[in-house]
Order: sequence, then C-alpha cells, then structure tokens
Amino acid sequence: MTILLDSKNPASGGQTDFLKREAIVPVAPLRDGVIFPGTEMVLTFGRPKSLAAIETAFSHEKLVVLVMQKGANVSEPVPDDLYKIGTLASVERMLKTDGEINALIKGIVRVEIVEYPQTEPFLLGKVKTLFDEIEIGDEITALSNHLSAELKKAVNLGKQVDFLVFMNIMSGLEPAELANQIAGVLEIKPAEKQTLLEIKNVKEKLAIIADYLAHEVKILEIEKKISNKTQEKFDKSIRETVLRERLKTIEKELGEEGENKEMRELNEKIKKAGMPKEVQEKAEKELSRLVQMAPFNPETSYIRAYLDWLVELPWVTASSNNVDIKMAQKILDEDHFGLNKIKERIIEYLAVMKLKKNNQLTAAKTKAVSPTILCFAGPPGVGKTSIGKSIARALNRKFVKISLGGIRDEAEIRGHRRTYVGALPGRIIQGIKQAGTHNPVFMLDEIDKVGADFRGDPSAALLEALDPEQNHAFSDHYLEVPFDLSDVFFITTCNVLDTIPPALKDRLEVIHFPGYTEDEKFHIGRDFLVKKQIEAHALKSSQVEMNDTTLKTIIQSYTREAGVRNLEREIAAIFRKVAKRVAEGYKKKIKVSAKNLAKFLGPAKFTAYLAEKKDEIGMSTGLAWTEAGGDILFIEVALMPGKGNLTLTGQLGDVMKESCQAALSYIRSRAEKLGLPERFYQKIDVHVHVPEGAVPKDGPSAGIAIATALTSALTKIPVKKEVGMTGEITLRGRVLEIGGIKEKIIAAHRAGLKIIIMPENNKKDLEDIPKNVLRDLKFFFVTHMDEVLKIALKKNL
Ligand code: ADP
Repeated sequence: MTILLDSKNPASGGQTDFLKREAIVPVAPLRDGVIFPGTEMVLTFGRPKSLAAIETAFSHEKLVVLVMQKGANVSEPVPDDLYKIGTLASVERMLKTDGEINALIKGIVRVEIVEYPQTEPFLLGKVKTLFDEIEIGDEITALSNHLSAELKKAVNLGKQVDFLVFMNIMSGLEPAELANQIAGVLEIKPAEKQTLLEIKNVKEKLAIIADYLAHEVKILEIEKKISNKTQEKFDKSIRETVLRERLKTIEKELGEEGENKEMRELNEKIKKAGMPKEVQEKAEKELSRLVQMAPFNPETSYIRAYLDWLVELPWVTASSNNVDIKMAQKILDEDHFGLNKIKERIIEYLAVMKLKKNNQLTAAKTKAVSPTILCFAGPPGVGKTSIGKSIARALNRKFVKISLGGIRDEAEIRGHRRTYVGALPGRIIQGIKQAGTHNPVFMLDEIDKVGADFRGDPSAALLEALDPEQNHAFSDHYLEVPFDLSDVFFITTCNVLDTIPPALKDRLEVIHFPGYTEDEKFHIGRDFLVKKQIEAHALKSSQVEMNDTTLKTIIQSYTREAGVRNLEREIAAIFRKVAKRVAEGYKKKIKVSAKNLAKFLGPAKFTAYLAEKKDEIGMSTGLAWTEAGGDILFIEVALMPGKGNLTLTGQLGDVMKESCQAALSYIRSRAEKLGLPERFYQKIDVHVHVPEGAVPKDGPSAGIAIATALTSALTKIPVKKEVGMTGEITLRGRVLEIGGIKEKIIAAHRAGLKIIIMPENNKKDLEDIPKNVLRDLKFFFVTHMDEVLKIALKKNL
C-alpha cells in the first residue's frame, strides 16, 4: 500500500505546498456530519475501514479526508455512496479504545475527491484542493459583522456554543473563516451543512448562513417567549397561593368568616337549622373558631363533628300534632288484640294530652299538678313495644326506641363532655336525631335494668330527661346547649317495678301488661302473627294453610311464656320452611297440621305440666312470679333420719329460705294437732328442694306451698296434684297477701291447675283476670294455714 503524499503535514508548515497539489489521502466517511475547515471536533470511528484509514493517517502525515455519506444508513459505503466534496483534516490526537477510535480532528481545507485509487482495506482518495472565492468589500464586512452580532444574540437567547469557539468567533475572523466557524455551530441538517460546505463563494455562503442564523434566532426568541409565559403562569399561581394564605391570616385576625366553601355551607346550615338564639350563637362561635384553625389541627375534626350534631338536630322539625281520639282508638284496635284496659288507659292519656294542648291557658297548671310518664310494665313479648309503635302511628309521629338495659354510666344518657376523645351525645339526643323530629314517641326500654355505680347515676339524668318540668331544657354534656324535650312523648318499659329507683318510679304512670292466656295467644296468633309472618316471608295465603288446632298445638307444645314472642318465632320458623319449599318449585298448597308439625318445628318442646304428675307425698305446687311473667313451681320435701338439720337447695334467696324456716317452725308448733310425735324434728333431717335448680328463686309467696309440702312429707298424706297455691306464711300460720296475682293465675291456668288457694286479701286482684280463666279455675281464699291444708291434702287431718 502506498500513500502518495507529496507534501508535508500542513500542520507542520507544508500546508501551502499541499494546497497547490493533488494528493492521495486516506478517506474516512462520516455518516451524517460535516466538518468545516478551521473547526475542531472530537469524532468517534467504529467501522473497520474508517479505523484503518484513521490509523494509517495518524501514523503517516496525520492527514485524512472526511466526507459525508449520501445516506446515513449505508454501513459499508463505496465511493458512489459518498459526496464528492469533503474536508481535508488532520488527526491531532487519537485515543484507541475497545474497537473504537476517538480522534480530535481539525478541518483544514475543502477538497474534492477526484477518484479512489484504493478501496480496500480502506478508501484512499485522490483529492484536489478547493479554493474559496472571495471579493473583499463593504458588503462582505457588513455581512460578517451582522453574522457576529446575530450569533451573539443567539447565544444570549440560550444557544449552546462552546465557549472557546464563541470567543474565537468574536475575536474578529476573516470572512471565510468566520463563515466556516459559524457554519460549524449552526443547528441545521447534515445535508444543509454539506450544501454549505460545497459553496465556493464566501459572500454567498455568508448570506445563506445569515438566513439560517436568523431562523435560529427567531426560534430561540419564540422559545424564550413560551418559557417566559410558563414562568409567568407559574409565578402567578405561587403569587395567588401566597396571597390566599395572607388573606386567611388577615381574616383570622379579623375573626371573619372564611371564604372556604365548606365553611360557608356550614354557616348556611346553622342559619337554616332553626336553632334557638343562644344555640345559634354558640354554633357560630364554634364555627369561627374552626375557620381560624389551621386545617391540620386535629381539633378541627372535633369541632366539625360537634357542629354537624348541632345542625342536624331537629330544633324545629316536628310531626303535625293532631290527636284524633277516635282515630287513635281505631289504630290501637287494628294493631292489637285484646289489651282493652291498656288501650283504654292509653286513650285516656291521649285525651288529657289533647285537652292540655287545646287549652294552653291551663297547660301550665296541669303540668304543675302531676306530670306523669307512661311506663309499660310486663314480661317480654306482651306487646309493649308494638303498642308504643301504634301510639306513634295514631299520633302520626315518629317512633324511636332505645334500650337502657345494662346502662351504668350517666354519660350514656347525658353524653360525654367534648374534652373526651370520641365523645358523643347521650342516647336521648341520639334518639332525637334518629327520629328527625323533636316530638317523636320515644320509648326507653328496660328502665328497670338501669344501674348506678361510681360513674354517676343514670337515673338522675333520665329523670331530668323525662320530667316535664325540667325537660324543656335538657342538658347534654356533649351538646353543651339545652335541648327542648318537652314535646317528646316518652314511654318507658320495664319487666319489674322493684328495681326502678324510687324517685323515678314516683313519676311513672304504670300500666301493667299481665301476659296472655292461651286463648288470647290463640287469637293474637291467628289474627295477627300468622298474617304478619305470611307477609314477612313473601307468601300468599293460597300457598299455605295452618288451621286452628295447629296453632293451639304450637302454643301448648312449643311455647311456655307470658307473651307471644316465642310463638311468633315458631310461626316464623314454619313459614321459613314453607317459603323454602315454595321457592324450590313446590306448586300445591302446603298444609301445616298438628300431625306434621314436628317436621317443621322438631319434636314438641314442652309437655303439659300436670299430665304425668300424680298426687304425691311431700310435693306441692306453688305459683311464682318472674320477670318473664307467671309460672308454677314444684316444691319437694324429703325427710331423712338425722339430727334436725334443714337443707335448702334450688338457689333459694334469703327471703325464701326464711319462709322455709317459718313454715318448719309453724309445723313444729302444730305438731300435736298434725299428729306428729313430740320432738319429731330432732330425729330427722329435712331437705327442701325447688327444681329447676339453676334458676334463682326468691320471695315470701311460696310460704304456704312449702308448709304444705312439709306437712305432707311428715304426715305421709299426698297433696292433690290439681291444686296450686300462693301466699306468705307467718310463724303462727297466718296467710298474708302477696303480689303478682294476675300473672300467677294466668300461669296456673296455662299449666292446667284446677284449684287455686290464695290469701283472702288478694281477692280484689281477680278483677282484671279474663273471664274464661276465672271460669276454668276454682278459687279458695284463705287467712290461715289450717285452711290450706284442709283444701290441699288428700285426707283431712
Ligand atoms: P314487648 O315489647 O312487650 O317485649 P313486643 O311489642 O315486641 O313485646 O311484642 C312481640 C310481638 O308480639 C310483636 O310482633 C307484637 O306485634 C306481637 N303482639 C304482642 N301483643 C299483641 C297483641 N295484643 N295483638 C297483636 N300482636 C301482639
């Protein structure tokens, strides 16, 4: 391979000689770039032919011709793929790395490649120097000055130019050199650069460069404008935020309402809620506190919750308050079977209420006389709640019910102070909010289950809520403002009266719900519960049939209760199964009969009390009163040889234990008359047991039943199985009055007893007992134990 270079390296001073001649120089193609004479650039070569060309150049005269490819994609260009005009350049420095060469190249002069004497292993070109045409004059000077100024302008607008190159250009170059230097920094396409390179006439070149530069300047100006605008926008939003913050601070200082939408809405709600003046003032004060608070202050959420409560309470919302007595009677009758006395009492109560309302003048007086609150007392499932609902319906008012069972804490009624985390108003205010009106029928369930302990006495708070004299300004700890409860129709319910605190009990107008007889249950079941449950299970009366006998069987064999709650449950259980079959596609009418009842409800749960009993020695039947209504209980006495000990089992309370002792003492004092041996008690141990041992029992009313069982055990005379008895016994054998007669009699009737022995003084209590019950039972009213024994024992003593 020969490289014919008849000149010295121009860089080392032989350039002038070189320029005059033709020479043969290695050629390195450039994919998409042009290097202008006089400019310097670091280029990276990777193609084998280019590497060979550069290396050869570097090791000889350091001269190489760089020429652009016509198409950038050709990877192994042949002479035809290359432009004819390129730049002779010197390889100033070279750095070889892994398969690549980085070379600092400096353009020298434009050349034309006349031919390629060699193409392998790299291109060698025979080149002819191209000279620029230049006519010196004002025009070209002006053009040059203009170009320098334009470039300066472009740089000022943000054009990226190497600092040294820029300084060089600014230092005042010859027009031709200036043209090349500026052409090197123009942002134009490679092909456009090639065109520039090929232009011989310097003036022409300068003019074209001026055009390109002007274009660039324009674009830079537009870009700048855009970025300015963006900046402006950005600045504006920062400014607004800052101003808004400042506004807030100012408003805070002035204590004015914030422009926050939510706050405005709250303010609006406060105005619309119809609060009394002082409440509204309080709400507004809280709102302005809220507005002034930093949004991340945790207290804001408390204040907001508080304000929500205030605005959502029905300060003025009320149901129309027209009491139509006839209508009320009709509705009560529509919803409930029987309960006539109760309905009557309720109607009377409503009538008084109506009169009070009609005659506002006397209202104050009537209020002052004896404000009372209704209290429905009775076992579960007797219709207390549903009567309450009917009253609400009759009065066209909303109904709410809260359960007070197990409440020990005053705060449950009156709310927690707001300083507590998670504080809420008490149940009364919660109930009012739930009702959405300030005159609902408000049922307080299980008032007898309220207890007091170290957390305060809930009943005191209850009294304040219930008492018509105080409740026009009921104070809830959470609300901090009074709420008027005087239009609320409170009804309380309880199972027992004894445990209600006296102060509260004093205010209650108690209406007793004694429990239902079997006959009443049957009517309730047939006329109400069955219909209700058919509807509740989306059935039609054409799909199911349940006759009267079936219903009676359910009452007798599947329930034992004073109310009808379990009865309703059992009926529901039947219809659930029926509904399932209907849903499965069963087309015929399903008949529920006494015979197939077990299929729906399983085996009978209760057998008749007395069916398998016989007249027994040492066993009597007492009548008991429980929270769940009346019941009968058996008293068993066993005698064993011993030393006169008395054992009592079956979870008997103190009063009942004392009854046992009194009964025993009575018998000892009557030993002779009863035909018992002297000091009989010293040789025996007596065990009194009352079955269903898990259920606690107490009270004096089993006295005569215990005495009867004891006497029977001692005298070996059986007690008649159909006799039930109730009455307290004294040491001398007197029989004293007891309570709960109605419930007891109904239970005795349910259990199938025939004869009832009860204290003479309780005769008056039979008044309220349904006629059909009285008809089925025989009553003996006694004053002394001797009479009891006479009636109850099989044989006269
Ligand atoms: P309580 O509140 O006394 O525990 P509920 O009012 O919940 O009892 O009554 C239980 C179910 O018995 C309710 O479905 C109720 O409608 C029904 N009920 C109770 N008594 C009667 C009645 N006399 N007439 C019609 N349905 C009654």
